Amino acid sequence: MRATLLLLALAFCGRAGAAPVAPLPYDHILRYDELTTLLHHWSDARPGLVQLESIGKTPQGRELWFLTLTNQATGPAQDKPALVVDGNMHATEWGGGVAALHFVHKLLDAYGSDERVTRLLDTRTIYVLPRMTPDGVEATLDQGRFIRSVDRPYPSALPQAGIIPRDVNGDGRTVFMRFRDPNGPWKEYVQDKRLLVPRAPDETGGDYWRVLPEGMIEGYDGVTIANEPEHEALDFGANFPADLGETPNQTNGPYPTSEPEIAAYVSAIARRPNIVAHVTCHTFGGLVLTPPVNIGEKLPEPDRGAYETLSKRGAALTGYQAMSYLDLRSGTDKEGYRPSAFGWLYNRRGIFSFITEFWNPLTAAGISLENTLASTWLWGYHPVEDELKLLRWSDKELGGDGFVAWRRFDHPQLGPVEIGGFDLIRYWFNIPFGRLEQEVAPHSDWLIYLALATPQLSIRSFAAEPVGEGLWRLRLVVENTGWLPTNGTQQALDQKIVGDVRVELKLPTGTKLINGESSQQLGQLAGRTAQRSTASWWGYTPGTPDRAFADWIVAAPAGTVFTAIASQERAGKAQAELVLGAKAK
Ligand SMILES: [Zn+2]
Repeated sequence: MRATLLLLALAFCGRAGAAPVAPLPYDHILRYDELTTLLHHWSDARPGLVQLESIGKTPQGRELWFLTLTNQATGPAQDKPALVVDGNMHATEWGGGVAALHFVHKLLDAYGSDERVTRLLDTRTIYVLPRMTPDGVEATLDQGRFIRSVDRPYPSALPQAGIIPRDVNGDGRTVFMRFRDPNGPWKEYVQDKRLLVPRAPDETGGDYWRVLPEGMIEGYDGVTIANEPEHEALDFGANFPADLGETPNQTNGPYPTSEPEIAAYVSAIARRPNIVAHVTCHTFGGLVLTPPVNIGEKLPEPDRGAYETLSKRGAALTGYQAMSYLDLRSGTDKEGYRPSAFGWLYNRRGIFSFITEFWNPLTAAGISLENTLASTWLWGYHPVEDELKLLRWSDKELGGDGFVAWRRFDHPQLGPVEIGGFDLIRYWFNIPFGRLEQEVAPHSDWLIYLALATPQLSIRSFAAEPVGEGLWRLRLVVENTGWLPTNGTQQALDQKIVGDVRVELKLPTGTKLINGESSQQLGQLAGRTAQRSTASWWGYTPGTPDRAFADWIVAAPAGTVFTAIASQERAGKAQAELVLGAKAK
């Protein structure tokens, strides 16, 4: 009886003897060493499903961990269409890395029990770079302050005059400093004195405050404080290969791929021509962003339609808003050229690339964003009533942790100040730990959907028919069983970086090819992206654009085994065999 139960339990697991997959913690952000250990645990627990490698080292000596997930038993990774996912391109956006890790954990944990996950790893490949900037993440965790991508000085190696944000009172957070100034632009808000509101244009003689980021002033002359300069302006997203147009050389680095992290990632992607789609995980905004980024960037019609379907599904699953990056930009900002990862991944490589911006604290606090541009909030223009809602939300939902109460501190340069204000790093850029898992989980479902929508080259039939004494006609019928076309994007075709579907007949010794080239090109096979919403309607003459065939006339004795291979870099590889004279299967 006990043996039977045990067997049943093993059968239920679907992978007899498999070690459990170590859980991903959601109550803190993994330090680099903890991340390294966890990734090794995962790859050791599922060696047939995941391979862990380092694609490079950071200047501070940390590995750039890169995972390849696929069922090795059904074929090598590069022979399957692929989705690549990355997290932590931006150091402070910890939740993006958590989302990438959640996806990996889900695939490893649910393989064998979840039909879609199993089908995904049996037929597709998933690449994941969970932490693009391990140096940057470690620095933000150590210092509790905002760092764009990494704490390497750029554009100037020398510190410039102005306030340098730092945790000066040693509480692990870098927030704000306020101090009284008869000509200060702020005053306390009567309904909640923690908040500051602008002093009115005609107002004088009150209790006014000046506000600065918490930090030390470089080159302080005792009177004036320069505007905060960008000390670590490097943005990895702007360091991808791109035409930089007239962009000021500020955030993009000295030249495209100058940063070792980006050079390694770009090379890893370029060496994997099977990549069809890409998602980069960021915070915040609650958005699923697609190209174009700049005015004048081309988005061919077939890609526009596919992007719309795919991003809408992402928005539906996550509750986020789907829009183009260009539509997110407002006013005069729209006119300038902005380098981004889309510029290389989509415009040049023709990869369906998406940006997910997880988490919107405003929505969480019950603030209506109707009739508001996302960027309005970003730059700090909003009614004080909304800010009060945010404060109440922090008090109620976060136990007050979202706003650091103003506390007196003797600043070595400014004298007595108060340090406090919204903790933007923990609750604005990041998802509160209590809701981290639920915030990222629906996104992993979308990634599964996205990967399953990629093209998939399959063999429909491979059959032989006698056409004379010792002569046979071999016919191979191939089809695309995926949703996207075999070329993935139209952009990939326009950029001339995908080849045709290619079929090849292997000629065994003792046989002869009488007619037909042993290797043939069959063009591209459509998927189902052009499908209408209704079937029996006028003008519907779709044909079979998902299907093609190749014929060969061979001279060979009955019983000969022939092998045919169909392949295309973005649609995968399929192989079939037949025995001459045997009944077709
Ligand atoms: Zn970001």
